[in-house]
Amino acid sequence: MRAALYVRVSTEEQNLEGYSIEAQKNRCMSFIESQGDWYLSKVYADPGHSAKNLDRPAVQELMEGAKNKEFDVLVVYRLDRLVRSVLDLHNLLELFDKHNVKFKSVTEVFDTTTAMGRFFITLVGAMSEWERSNLSERVSFGMEQMTREGKWKGGHVGYGHMHIDGHMAINEDEARIVRMMYDWYLTGMSDRKIAKELRKRGIMTRGGAQWSESHVRYTLSNPKNKGDLRYGIEKEKSKQFVVEDIYPQIIDVDTFDKAMSIRESRRTFHGRQATSDHYFSGILTCSRCGRSMVGHMAKVNGKRLKNYVCLGRRHFECDMPSISERIIEHNFLQELRRGIESESINQIEEPAQDNADEIKALKRDLNKIKDRRKKWQYAWANEIMSDTEFQDRMQEEQELENDIQNQLNDLDEAQPHVVDEAVLEMMSDAVENWGNLESTEKKQLMQIAFDKIIVDKVETKKVLDRANIIEIVFK
Ligand SMILES: [Zn+2]
Repeated sequence: MRAALYVRVSTEEQNLEGYSIEAQKNRCMSFIESQGDWYLSKVYADPGHSAKNLDRPAVQELMEGAKNKEFDVLVVYRLDRLVRSVLDLHNLLELFDKHNVKFKSVTEVFDTTTAMGRFFITLVGAMSEWERSNLSERVSFGMEQMTREGKWKGGHVGYGHMHIDGHMAINEDEARIVRMMYDWYLTGMSDRKIAKELRKRGIMTRGGAQWSESHVRYTLSNPKNKGDLRYGIEKEKSKQFVVEDIYPQIIDVDTFDKAMSIRESRRTFHGRQATSDHYFSGILTCSRCGRSMVGHMAKVNGKRLKNYVCLGRRHFECDMPSISERIIEHNFLQELRRGIESESINQIEEPAQDNADEIKALKRDLNKIKDRRKKWQYAWANEIMSDTEFQDRMQEEQELENDIQNQLNDLDEAQPHVVDEAVLEMMSDAVENWGNLESTEKKQLMQIAFDKIIVDKVETKKVLDRANIIEIVFK
């Protein structure tokens, strides 16, 4: 059988895997070869055309070809390459039928070369459904591409950004406020307090509304502030992806990540509790029952004192007495100081790390692979590189990466596990300067560095009771 191919790619689809003219050709060719007595007689190609109607050069040509019986079967990779409307499909099938030309889609069941396949024509009614879903997919493909090019048409441009001539830019007036909000957040203010502060200052949202807690949360959690775009349908996580470096940055990546890690720790533990003034809220854990110990304010001799009460106390399920923050703070710092000292000694005693350089070099190689991948992707997306070449390159990079990763793992195993030196330095800095820290700074440090502090209370009958720090878990 003489088989003709029809291939088409629209400008929006050129970046998508499997959509390039060459990819379609390859797949159709392997299909034809697999049929035994089929052979290729002609390729009809419409690059850069949409399928909104049949008014495409190659479609017109293939209709002539069918009339002149120049081929016996028309093969497409996917039906939507040929038509997008049921009516167009119907007209084409009628024409093919009249001239005894068959029709086959490589990836779908639509196949008029068999009796069963002919039944498909009666299914045309159901096709309108397919048409609709394909249309919405297409819209999202087009949007994706524009996003990748740093352009944005339609959709919502978030606070702090605007578009000029179809390109993203920073809206300086708004960006200033976004940066201020991050500053506040990093010094321990909650979303609610930030919203309140903005309202107090008469600062409005872009829509002219009062800032709310959720609006602040949404704004601060949006990765576009550090330049990345989260794209995709909220409900369908599998279709979501992040495109890096799309927006001009309002804040640096570090600030964003720090804010997100604070948010995470507040969320994981006790919601609003953690934004209170208690340094250890969300972290302090009762050694007797394993429950969290939550912050309370107690009045002693007219003075307001911060202390912590085990959640088990509420149900009389734990006999842990409440512990004042002052005691915990004191014993905790002691314990930490001791830990830092012994850790520093450990490090000095360790033989010099000969493989540190080697690890660095390997990590550099990993980064190079990352860069090269971006280049290949760019070349492929712009059709400078063919699908096969692209796959070969990516395969090579993958093998290289695996190899380096294995080497890294081997080196890692050979190395004793020590607390990162920079962390150690930061901790000892913090401990030494603890007295000079603002209480929001203390709190922030605790939330960022520690996962859990397991504590017991020892009643000494002296002036001060003692908190026994059983275990400190770093994040
Ligand atoms: Zn308890």
